[in-house]
Order: sequence, then structure tokens, then C-alpha cells
Amino acid sequence: MIILVLNAGSSSLKYQLFDMDTSQVMAAGVFERIGEANGIITHRLYSKTTETKTVFEQKITDHRQALDCVTDLLTGPVTGAIETISQIDAIGHRVVQGGEAFNRATRINPHVKKAIQENNPLAPLHNPPNLTGIEVAETLFPGVPNVAVFDTEFHQSMPPRAFMYALPYGYYTDLKVRRYGFHGTSHKYVAMEAARLMDRDIKDLNLITIHLGNGCSISAVQGGRCIDTSMGMTPLAGLMMGTRTGDMDPAIISYLLGSTGMDFVKLDDILNRHSGLKGICEMNDMRDIHAAAAKGDARARLATDMFCYRIKKYIGSYAAALGCLDAVIFTAGIGENDAVVREIVLKDLTILGIRLDTAVNRSNQTRPFHIHAPDSCVQVWVISTNEEFQIARETHSLLTADKEPEKNRLNTPGNVNGSSRFFT
Ligand code: ADP
Repeated sequence: MIILVLNAGSSSLKYQLFDMDTSQVMAAGVFERIGEANGIITHRLYSKTTETKTVFEQKITDHRQALDCVTDLLTGPVTGAIETISQIDAIGHRVVQGGEAFNRATRINPHVKKAIQENNPLAPLHNPPNLTGIEVAETLFPGVPNVAVFDTEFHQSMPPRAFMYALPYGYYTDLKVRRYGFHGTSHKYVAMEAARLMDRDIKDLNLITIHLGNGCSISAVQGGRCIDTSMGMTPLAGLMMGTRTGDMDPAIISYLLGSTGMDFVKLDDILNRHSGLKGICEMNDMRDIHAAAAKGDARARLATDMFCYRIKKYIGSYAAALGCLDAVIFTAGIGENDAVVREIVLKDLTILGIRLDTAVNRSNQTRPFHIHAPDSCVQVWVISTNEEFQIARETHSLLTADKEPEKNRLNTPGNVNGSSRFFT
């Protein structure tokens, strides 16, 4: 089965083509600056041993033209991975916000599209372009099944005590104000990979998965199900991030609005784009921050300290929530590459049974690799995330399950409102 994975953003379109029989990526690419005069297209064609990269500039008016161009690249004489687009068996779409309606990958039909649209107010920057990607794919690939895989679906197993905010209850029932969590596809993928690498059944494992990229989040995963996660109703909550605040006293918002005279749009921009690492030391790439700290930049050191301290505190609280801990997993740009951050985070965590092998941690081995000392009670793994492959895998298993009797694909337990109404 050949699956095309699409991630449509407001001005970008990312794609990957997978051969699910071999679990190999055949081609991948990204269209940037859609709608602007100077669009950039990067396409990669993979064989078993080689990678051929093509980059060119072209004005791309909209997502429809972008996807048209993707089909040309995928079938072209030099850039092509397949002969004809009829070889594509299914399309998996990343959708950011599924709300409470979706706790698993879901085949797209008019009801599903309406439900995605109903969640637009919860993800105004992401869900509308995600839906555009779906609609364009439906016109360009008539008859090919489209599947939505939601960033929020993995976190739908959280119990109410973890997802509710201590606000008047009506805000939850009337306005859907609750913790949803994000990066779910990544947390799920690395949790499954950890279980495979540990040669254990995921149902028997208590894991903490830590995704540290530009956005950062951490999840407590018990028996393969998320029981808590740090991002909230929006991706602003939780850990300190590249440019986002993470957790802070909510009263700071009214204090700043009152004392500076700025309006909420400006403050929202500050909280999302000018805070976090950037707010503290004016840099948001961890490599630059380490270089500055090494030269004695005190604010770069403070930013690193704050970043790591918050992760450490979350590990402690999630260990308590889990009651028992088998492994901690680091993933994404910083988690996969940054031995310094991992070392500061894990230092002095023997209270939780975590002992780091400092030399192995610094050795930058080929991922995946583990960095715990031989006498550590808790394993620590560094695993590359692969959200696109997880989307392809879920699309594949949904469509394979579609061929099985109805009773085999009932909704999983633990979802608050259930989503079986969409599995018709
Ligand atoms: P995104 O959230 O955009 O997918 P990534 O997972 O690609 O982000 O992570 C991007 C971040 O990873 C960069 O901003 C940088 O801080 C960090 N990063 C990437 N490579 C390294 C490295 N070798 N050492 C430290 N940090 C790194």
C-alpha cells in the first residue's frame, strides 16, 4: 500500500510518500510561502541508498496548485517515485485539533469535515488550512480514501482530573475550555518505539515522553495511553519553549494589560512569539544559546537553566502521577541532539531511580540509543520522532481494519464523549 501524508499549514504544504509494504519513505518535500511571489519548493526522492534533492523557486498561488505540483513531482521523469498517481492508495492528513470528537485516526467524510470545522475556534491558525488540504486532495484524487490523524487524539485518554481546568464548569460544557494537548502523534510514536526497543509490551509500561523542538511538551503514558500532558487548551501551556512562555501565573495577563496599555493582540503575540528562550536571552535556537553561554552570556545560562528546570519538575510530577516509572524518552530537535540539556535535566534524579551514563549521553550515537547507566532503575532513551510515518501507519491500519468486521473497530475506551459516531 502506498500512502501520501499531507500536512497543510497556512502558507506551506509538507508531504511524504510511503511504501507501507517496506515501511520506506519514497519521496518527501515542502512547499513554502504559498500565496507569495517567491514560493520555495524542496523535493527529495529516496532510493535504498541515495537521496536526490531538488530545490526551486516558483510562485504557488494556493494549496490546490501546490498539490497539483506535488503530483507532478511524484510522477516526473527525474523527481518521480511512482509512475502514475493512481498508485497512491490512500492519503493521511495531519489535523491539529480534533477536540473531543476524535480519539483515533478517522476516515474523512462530510460529518468528519464538519466536525473539524467546528473545532476551528480552538485552532484558528491550523484547522482551516488542514481542512483546505483535505478538500484539495479530495478533488485531485477522486475515489482515494482520505484519513485524518489528529495531534490531539492520543491525549483524549486523559482522565477528567487531568484535562479539566479549575474554572466555572460551564466554560467546559459551553465553550469547550479544557486541556487537549498537542504533539500527540510524536508522543505516541516514541512511546511505541520505546516499548519495541525495550522488548516489552507497551501495556505493561509507565513512560514519560519528552518532545523538545521549537514547541515543547511532555506526556505521562501508562499502558500505552496518555494520562497527562503539559500543553493545554492551546500549545502555549506547559514547558518553556523557543518563543512561548509555557506555564505562568494567569494574573500576569491582566497585570500587563493594565500596566502597559497594550492590547490583547499585542500581548498574545508576546506570549507566543517573543517569550520562552527568546524572551530571556533573545535567542531561540539552543545551539546559539549554548555557544553564548560558553562565552559567559549570563542570560543564555539563565535561559538554559530555566528550560531544563521546568522539564525536571514535570518529570517529577508525572512520575508521581504514574506511580511507577520504566523509561524516560527524549525526542525532537533538542531532545534528540542536545546532550547538555539532557544532562542538566537528568542530573540529581536518583530519587526517581534515574541514573545517567554521562559519557554515553555525550557520545552522540546513531539514534535510537539509551543513555542510562547500567545500575539505573529507569531506562532513558533518545529516539527520533517520525510523525509523518505515524500518520501513514495509522492511515494504513485504519484502512486495513476497515476491511474487518464492524465489531473489531469499535471506539477505544476512555474517550469522554466517544467518537464512534464517525466510524460509519
Ligand atoms: P519543530 O518544533 O519546528 O519541528 P524541531 O524538532 O526541528 O522543531 O527542533 C528545532 C530546534 O531543535 C531548534 O530550534 C534547535 O533549538 C534545536 N536543535 C536542533 N539541532 C540541535 C543540536 N544539534 N543541538 C541543540 N539543539 C538543536
